[in-house]
Amino acid sequence: MGDRLWVALNNVLSLAVERDLDYRDFFLATAAAYDEGRGSSLPIRALVRALEEEAASCSLERARQYAWQLVGAGYSAVVLDCLGLPELYWFYAQLLKRGLRLAVYGYVNATGRTAGLLEEFQRASVREVAESLGGSKSSSLDRAVHRELGEPVSLEELARRAEEHLKPVVNGWVRQLTSLAAPFFVISDHGYDFAREGGKWYLVHGRAPNALSKLAPLLVVSRPPRWCSSR
Ligand SMILES: [Zn+2]
Repeated sequence: MGDRLWVALNNVLSLAVERDLDYRDFFLATAAAYDEGRGSSLPIRALVRALEEEAASCSLERARQYAWQLVGAGYSAVVLDCLGLPELYWFYAQLLKRGLRLAVYGYVNATGRTAGLLEEFQRASVREVAESLGGSKSSSLDRAVHRELGEPVSLEELARRAEEHLKPVVNGWVRQLTSLAAPFFVISDHGYDFAREGGKWYLVHGRAPNALSKLAPLLVVSRPPRWCSSR
């Protein structure tokens, strides 16, 4: 159950790591997946198809159940409002580089909006969801997506703004989380889509047709046993 979505997601991430893509490369490869003519160097369209087909088997209900299992097993929770595929990749690549053990799962938030997650957790805000899990939350990515990347600009400029406003947020969390001794997980309510207006591009989520907006990722991070013994 859900295998196809998780395989598709892990294929994209591991292939990008194998090619040693930096954040900007990955951001542009994601944009290219929205461009019928050009295509993308990563199998992102297969991921978008899996999000369509696995909506029932990878529901947010399963994400909630798994989050609770992790909390029960001693994992610290971080709840991020809006974790796009490029930022998920950047988490993944940076954490992998630090020798951490990672597992990535994806769930389907059909609304592409925070409301979908709030409804599932029966909470009024992302902060309340985080508090219910005993963890932290951040809305910095969502804010930056709307304020800095929500208006049509050239793709070049959009990538520059993503590097300036989105990538540092991920870097900050990676620094903070890797200083913790405890295992942790990062969960998000939705991603975002690339939209175009003429030759210009911007980011949006929760607006039909949702594609990558629907991806609610869950990244589980622990230290390999040898890490503990070497310290
Ligand atoms: Zn938003």
